[in-house]
Amino acid sequence: MSFLPVAALPADEAPPCSGLWAIFDSNAPSDHKAARQLCARCPVRRECDDVRAESTARSLPGFGPRGTWAGRLHSRTGARDVA
Ligand code: SF4
Repeated sequence: MSFLPVAALPADEAPPCSGLWAIFDSNAPSDHKAARQLCARCPVRRECDDVRAESTARSLPGFGPRGTWAGRLHSRTGARDVA
């Protein structure tokens, strides 16, 4: 498996989060809501969550990926869905 979910996309296609790191890295509920809406139409959502899970498994506890990945908000305390 590639470390980046974008490897599952055609070379000329970018995921919906491309260039929007500020809202995807944010823990603010409004940013997460916007990010989650973009993830909902992402063609590599499953691959993205696989990469996130793999990265979490390789990280020290509490130091895995943060922010919105595959529509879920991840923080030091774990994943949660924000309405
Ligand atoms: S699922 Fe969301 S965070 Fe993952 S690549 Fe797609 S748009 Fe980006």
